[in-house]
Amino acid sequence: MENGSGGSLFADALKQFDRAADLMNLDDGMRQVLKSHKREITVNFPVKMDDGSIRVFTGYRFQHNIARGPAKGGIRYHQNVNADEIKTLSFLMTWKCAIAGIPYGGAKGGVKVNPNELSEGELERLSRRFFSEIAPFIGTETDIPAPDVNTNAKIMAWYMDTYSMNIGRSELGIVTGKPVELGGSLGRNEATGRGVAIVTDEACKYFLTGGGVKGRTVAIQGFGNVGSYTSLILGNEYGAKVVAISDITGAYYNPEGINVQEAFDYVTTHKDLKGFNGGKIISNDELLALNVEILVPAALERAITEKNADKVRAKLVIEAANNPVTPEADEILRKKGIKIIPDFLTNSGGVVVSYFEWVQGLYSYFWDLEDVRKALTKVMKNSFADIIKTMEQYKTDMRTGAYILAISKVANATKLRGIYP
Ligand code: NAD
Repeated sequence: MENGSGGSLFADALKQFDRAADLMNLDDGMRQVLKSHKREITVNFPVKMDDGSIRVFTGYRFQHNIARGPAKGGIRYHQNVNADEIKTLSFLMTWKCAIAGIPYGGAKGGVKVNPNELSEGELERLSRRFFSEIAPFIGTETDIPAPDVNTNAKIMAWYMDTYSMNIGRSELGIVTGKPVELGGSLGRNEATGRGVAIVTDEACKYFLTGGGVKGRTVAIQGFGNVGSYTSLILGNEYGAKVVAISDITGAYYNPEGINVQEAFDYVTTHKDLKGFNGGKIISNDELLALNVEILVPAALERAITEKNADKVRAKLVIEAANNPVTPEADEILRKKGIKIIPDFLTNSGGVVVSYFEWVQGLYSYFWDLEDVRKALTKVMKNSFADIIKTMEQYKTDMRTGAYILAISKVANATKLRGIYP
């Protein structure tokens, strides 16, 4: 299966997996188990459009591995969604949950649609129908979806309601990322960005001289949920100097530092950065090549490839998006001495707070924001430290260290459970 911008994303992920599996001498049987998806669901479903016509959409739910607990992962709506992408993202979710030490396996879903072309009513009908199609494979104890690219708390509320209507009672734990009024967790919206900020600060302390991220220059690609909160928290709470931000409408550069609060408020009001005048307009390619200490790709996959990796001048690349660096680019950056902080650590804050939300829903006891932030910070710092320990032990890079740690956790769980029957 081809991805929009090149070969198979899953083949890329397997290359990175194998690099770690080779180093840890993982046996062939376990490799086969861990590389295989437990369940791959494709659904084609009709939606009645506002003008009375009918359109058929394609959606996916992939469950990679459930050795450590129920499958968990977001659902995205995007015109480029395809089976290869969802397969890869569900694979990454398994390792992400293992690293964070939360009792989940990996899943991911998506619908091939540009949601901006739909009316509110069409979006709701598509969401409810898609969730009904995958409902037989979803459950509080089996597979718990969450938001991802172009999906949000409102859509999670529709999912939860659809599921609840069909079983005749409210099932809060069926999805996470819900509105707070419906059993969502405080701090879930900001969680991925906050996790990115925590990891960035830790990475500066470990890999660079001069302490944490305070005062350091940062460029952030993508200003959606992840990019906007990363920028806000890094700038406002950690004292970093965010000099460039961008989204699909363009990139904005201010060597004196972007006013991150202004940018965040602008996007809240206008939906995107188009017309933002807090910086000089540059191209997204120029943003990636800026002379900054920290580069945060927080948009979509394959932002840094063999075509532009050579131009990157940052000391740290913080993978806030999933798969933003291809294996070829990874190699180029590594040779240049640039440290890459891997996606399945960096952006795990979202799933960690999703886990907190799930737990709160199951107990119907809700935490205050300070408790959520404190618990998230602890998990992110512990995960970072655990990976560094493995990386040092195996004398390897951070991504491979993260894979080794995650693979060993899932392989151990698989061994302990045994192969049924
Ligand atoms: P989003 O849809 O809210 O935002 C995506 C942003 O990227 C938008 O600002 C968009 O304009 C921008 N963008 C798209 N194409 C671009 C381009 N070519 N150049 C520059 N900017 C571009 O999505 P999100 O939820 O912020 O997710 C971003 C990434 O983080 C994805 O890879 C997603 O899988 C990953 N992620 C998200 C979460 C989460 O909790 N939302 C958790 C883990 C990982």
